[in-house]
Amino acid sequence: MDDFILKSYRSGYSSVFGDNNLVELDICPKCVKKIFEKQIRITARS
Ligand SMILES: [Zn+2]
Repeated sequence: MDDFILKSYRSGYSSVFGDNNLVELDICPKCVKKIFEKQIRITARS
């Protein structure tokens, strides 16, 4: 399991990450599953 998820986005005005900051997240699927256990939805591809 060495596939990585890389996400970046620019926060908007009054964002929890600060106004117009660049937010970058380096995380692997294993950690995503661990951290977002309650929020994640996994659906089989049809
Ligand atoms: Zn990880």
